[in-house]
Order: sequence, then C-alpha cells, then structure tokens
Amino acid sequence: MSKKLLLKDAHVEGIRYFETYRKQGGYGAAEKAFKMTPEEILEEVKVSGLRGRGGAGFPTGMKWSFLAKPEGVPRHLVVNADESEPGTFKDRYLMEYLPHLLIEGMLISSFVLGSNVSYIYIRGEYSWIPDILEEAIEEAKAAGFLGKNILGTGFDCEIYVQRGGGAYICGEETALLESLEGKRGNPRLKPPFPAVKGLWERPTVVNNVESIAAIVPIIDITGAEYAKIGVGRSTGTKLISACGNINKPGVYEIDMTITVEEFIYSDEYCGGIPNGKKLKACIPGGSSVPIVPANLLLKTVNGEPRYMNYESLADGGFATGTMMGSGGFIVLDEDQCIVEHTMTLARFYHHESCGQCTPCREGTGWMHKILKKIEKGEGKMEDIDLLWDVQRKIEGNTICPLGDAAAWPVAAAIRHFRDEFEWHIKNPELSQTQNYGLAHY
Ligand code: NAD
Ligand code: SF4
Repeated sequence: MSKKLLLKDAHVEGIRYFETYRKQGGYGAAEKAFKMTPEEILEEVKVSGLRGRGGAGFPTGMKWSFLAKPEGVPRHLVVNADESEPGTFKDRYLMEYLPHLLIEGMLISSFVLGSNVSYIYIRGEYSWIPDILEEAIEEAKAAGFLGKNILGTGFDCEIYVQRGGGAYICGEETALLESLEGKRGNPRLKPPFPAVKGLWERPTVVNNVESIAAIVPIIDITGAEYAKIGVGRSTGTKLISACGNINKPGVYEIDMTITVEEFIYSDEYCGGIPNGKKLKACIPGGSSVPIVPANLLLKTVNGEPRYMNYESLADGGFATGTMMGSGGFIVLDEDQCIVEHTMTLARFYHHESCGQCTPCREGTGWMHKILKKIEKGEGKMEDIDLLWDVQRKIEGNTICPLGDAAAWPVAAAIRHFRDEFEWHIKNPELSQTQNYGLAHY
C-alpha cells in the first residue's frame, strides 16, 4: 500500500475546519518552520527533491532559489489553482477537503520567499471552492496563523483568493499573472520568467496547489525522509486523478514505485476495466501529454515494466519531457475510437487558443476541421499527411505550451493508430454510424 502524506487525514470528518485540522496535528509544520530560517527551509525543500506537480515537473527548490530579490521590491507567491487540464481534478479534491493543508503550505512557502501578500488563482468553474478557501483563511487568521506578526515572528502574510473567468489558457503561469493583474489572459514570452518579472513586474513564484501542499509533509518529516519515498528523481508521493474506462475513478495518492499495470488493475486503485474489456490506450498525465497505446503503456520498449513515475513515463520515443504531466490519468478501453477522441481534444484546444500566435490560432482550427471530416467518413488518404503536416508546423513555433499540447495528441494518434484513421476513410458509410472500436471488437 502506498504511503499517504497529503491525503492521510482526508477521511477525517470535519477536517475542512481549523479545529479538526489542528487536532490532527495541523499547523505543526508551520510552527516548526517558524523556528527555522528561510534558508534552512529552502534547503529542506531542495533535499526533498520535490518536483512541480502542475505538469512540468520542474524542481520546486530550484525554482524558489531563482527568485530575484531586488532591494525594496515586494515579492509574491501565487498558487496556480486554475486546474483545467482535461482529466485532472486532484487540486479540486485537495482544496475542497483539505483547504488548511494548502493554507499551511502557503504560509511556510510565503515565509521562505518573503511574500507578504500571496494569492490563490482558482478556475472559474470551481465556483463553490473559493468560499471554502476563504473560510479557511479567516479561521487561520483568527488563530494567529495569518495576518500580522504571525506567531510573534514579525512576519506578516495575507492570502487572497481570485476567481478566474473559466479560460483554460489562464492556467499557463504568465497568462494567469496577466489575468490576476486584471488584463486579458494572454501568455507572455519567457524569459523573463516570473521568478524575475512576474506579478506587476515583481519577482513571483507560481506553484501548483499540490506542490505547495507537499511543503507541509516535507517540513513535518524532513526533506531527507521525503526523498526516501519513491524512486530516482521521482521523490515523495503524487496525486493521480483517474478517469475513463475504469471501475473506480477517483483521486489516488501513489508513491511512484508502482507499475502502470498495478495502478490500472489493482483494487487499491482503478480496479480494472469494466465488463472485462481490453485496455486500448491511456493518456497518463492529462490531455497535454500524448496518448500511449497499451503495449507501450504496460511495458517499455525494452520489455521492462512501466512505472508510474517521471522517468519511466518519459522514455520509449513517444514523448518529449515527462508524461506524468498534471497527473490526469485517462483510460480508454477497446471500444473507444481514437479518431473521435483526438477530434474532441482538437476542438477543445481550438476553442481555448488565445489567438496570439498564428500557428496555434489557425493550426488548431485546421486540425479540428480535418479530424471532423475524417471522423464523419468524408476524408481522403492525403488528409492524414495534411494533418501530420499541420501539427508539425505548430510544435515549437508558439509563445506558450498550448500549441505543443494541441499538436502532440494528434501526432501520437497518427503514429500509433494510423489504421483507425485509414478505416474511417475506407469505410465512409460505416464510420457514420459506428466508431472504429465498436466495429472491431
Ligand atoms: P515550463 O517547463 O515552461 O516551466 C515550469 C516552471 O519552471 C515554470 O514555473 C517556470 O517559470 C519555471 N522555470 C523554468 N525554467 C526557469 C528558469 N530558467 N528560471 C526560473 N524559472 C524557470 O512549463 P509550464 O509552462 O509551466 O508548464 C507546462 C506543463 O503544464 C505541461 O507539461 C502540462 O503538463 C501542464 N499543464 C497543466 C495543467 C493543469 O491543469 N494542471 C493544464 C495545462 C498544462
Ligand atoms: Fe495563445 Fe496558442 Fe500562442 Fe499559447 S500558443 S500564446 S494559446 S495562440
């Protein structure tokens, strides 16, 4: 059974409220942290090996150490709670059930970074959660864990919750900062990174909800103990939101030493695929990472088992970077149609493109149109090559990663499931009434 660090008290009745959270040992890590210097806490975070849980997996301690500290300029911590990646709902769970874990993590992090005013930017669709967070902030303030002169240390910290308007692009950190400043959420060119020029051009650290919540157990058990959990550069525990064709969708805390097969089929996690259907493919880290067919998902190209961690989900020649992504684990059984699925994603990215870069604005639209045509049985064989060409022209040619995220699912679908695209084109009548999966199994 995986060790629980973040969700260990999630089942405790009333844990959402300060009194119960405190009874369970809550704010103990903050008390411990305030007896340390910011430099000592930063060292613990570095030693822990914690990697950003929003999707990119960038080392949190390193990001914090990049924060510029010009004399007299305020610095900020901004928590990215704009969780919008299709298939991802772990931060929602944390904020809804354990709001004080996030507040405590923010308090410690703000102390390290020297942020006296910190923000939570939350996606608009999570409409009921800001009230939960604001109530927790008020409770923490009443207990002396926020506000002026916290625990008599002379450190002041206020936390504000800002609701987003429901745009996927506002989860991209620089678009988020623009939105927080009251402007349209258009991504900025990087560098400069927010650590140097962020909110109102001030040095800013933007971290995901889960990354900041993980600071609490790191201080509790020490960075060295945290680093012993997991494997390689995949230290600590990771929240995975699992959905799609599985018996037990939900949010699971794993220690990154389990295999993908165990995660899908064991009763402790997804509990297998309903109706004894076969596994066709999976998107292991939210829709921004490519789809992986079952044969490559359960085993690496060398025949080794594939593990649920940053390293094991990174090789195999089907992805650049890590496939852990945002931890949104989407399972597709044999009945699913990859062309239909890819078209749905293409429609999403086209709708969510901010429109600043031509390859993304135009390319996402063209990919959606071509996929729609193929899916409806109105495509030609050369459309598959055209689709490949369009996605190639987007990748690497845009301001922000939305362009790549739109291109990769299309590239992976063609690379691994070309036969399904060809079936739709060769069987126009059938493809209007059935999908590839149902027609074949
Ligand atoms: P990134 O690799 O550009 O950056 C990662 C983080 O490291 C950023 O905070 C960045 O500012 C910082 N950083 C990198 N190099 C730095 C440097 N030299 N100096 C200072 N800071 C530096 O990736 P990203 O754009 O932040 O995230 C992309 C990922 O987001 C994708 O892989 C995808 O999985 C994920 N994503 C998640 C969601 C979600 O809902 N959780 C939605 C969409 C995408
Ligand atoms: Fe906007 Fe797309 Fe360019 Fe990102 S890649 S800045 S979403 S147009």
